[in-house]
Amino acid sequence: MENGQLGDASGDGKDDEYEKVCYVCRRPESKAGKMISMPGNMYLCHDCMQKAFDSVTNGSLDWSKIQNMPYMNMNFSDLKNMDIPGMGIPQKQKVKKRREEKKADFELKDIPAPHEIKHRLDEYVIGQERAKKVIAVAVYNHYKRVYMAAKGEDAGDVRIEKSNILMIGPTGSGKTYLVKTLARLLNVPLAIADATSLTEAGYIGDDIESVISKLLAAAGNDVDRAERGIVFIDEIDKIAKKKTVNTRDVSGESVQQELLKLLEGAKVEVPVGSNQKNALTPMETVNTDNILFICGGAFPDLEDIIKERLTKKSTIGFDSALKDQYDSDPDILSKVTNEDLRAFGMIPEFLGRLPVTVTLQKLTKDLLVKILKEPKNAILKQYVKLLELDEVRLVFEDGALEWIAEEALKKETGARALRAILEDFMLDIMYEIPKDPGIGSVTITRAYLEKRGGPLIEMRG
Ligand code: ADP
Repeated sequence: MENGQLGDASGDGKDDEYEKVCYVCRRPESKAGKMISMPGNMYLCHDCMQKAFDSVTNGSLDWSKIQNMPYMNMNFSDLKNMDIPGMGIPQKQKVKKRREEKKADFELKDIPAPHEIKHRLDEYVIGQERAKKVIAVAVYNHYKRVYMAAKGEDAGDVRIEKSNILMIGPTGSGKTYLVKTLARLLNVPLAIADATSLTEAGYIGDDIESVISKLLAAAGNDVDRAERGIVFIDEIDKIAKKKTVNTRDVSGESVQQELLKLLEGAKVEVPVGSNQKNALTPMETVNTDNILFICGGAFPDLEDIIKERLTKKSTIGFDSALKDQYDSDPDILSKVTNEDLRAFGMIPEFLGRLPVTVTLQKLTKDLLVKILKEPKNAILKQYVKLLELDEVRLVFEDGALEWIAEEALKKETGARALRAILEDFMLDIMYEIPKDPGIGSVTITRAYLEKRGGPLIEMRG
């Protein structure tokens, strides 16, 4: 394996890489045993075949006593591979066969070291230095644990705990982006779910297991690959315990309760190729023991809880610090403790299963400017490339970049606002420039953005 990749990225399997699924009960071969081939790429398991015959013969025929099962010749051989529309199992519900032996298909040296992970995150994610470092170490440890489990190696008396991560940071500070970048560079499947859509089983909304269903889909229905994936649950702060409860709290505390088993590691039955369980959906068992869970949220008001705790402590202590000192601290979130999160409404058992806490900072103007131009896939680089194809050079004055960052700050949605602001005025540029083939370069100035002038245009030659 190369480039520190974990697992095989290709989801395009040939048919014999997939499990056969019983057309009646929808159990895969690994659960229901050998299948009997029927015309139209259909398969039946012994149980269902037996039931069918029982209903006809009143139980006088024991199917398993018949010789040559399950390959008995039913004279369907000509029809067997005919693909009759509407029959058989849809591709997205087919599950890849499990690997026979539980061998680790990656070596320790394939797991990128923390500094490598951080270095590669740096290429895309600006700022958030501490968060990147903490995540790099947590992920490194996590995959070491996965490696040991796959090798069947025992760490003796030491049991390495899961290093699930709780990520706290304002909207648009790069939580989702960090996780997406991480999954891409590790080449592991990623599922992103929204905690607000999850409800206790049996209520309207998605069951908790739907998260694992999504991961299985992201892994191309390859259970082994899914079991090493990453699940990101966003808006986790929205499932805090409700302060005033007079009805059953089906989307708050009880979701936290139900998530516990997933976070810790459990075997869950999930529907394949659908987020609904019904008689026609094949089910598959996924072990969440080696899945890395990252829960993220903005946790509004958490800052106040932290400040309150800190000021309370300092007024009774000797060095009574001023409340103002905390009010002006831009990095107050990094002082968060479990106690604060409990006060926010997260239950202790839930927090216990997210041992690594990462806080992200609110992005400043300087960082926003950097986000515009520095990441490998920076928005500015994309525009420059587009115009380069028209042989036009696109330049942004520093003042113009600052203006964009200032506007984004006003919107209070972090880096998320940048693209919208840029697209707004770039529309005219992208529309007008190709009209005149004589144009050689365009410089976007602050004056243009403030609508006090036009862009600087230079002709060729
Ligand atoms: P949230 O913290 O709300 O999950 P996102 O990760 O969705 O925020 O960020 C929105 C977009 O802003 C991302 O798609 C990314 O393009 C950009 N972005 C946010 N933070 C950063 C960062 N630190 N470095 C580079 N780009 C960022």
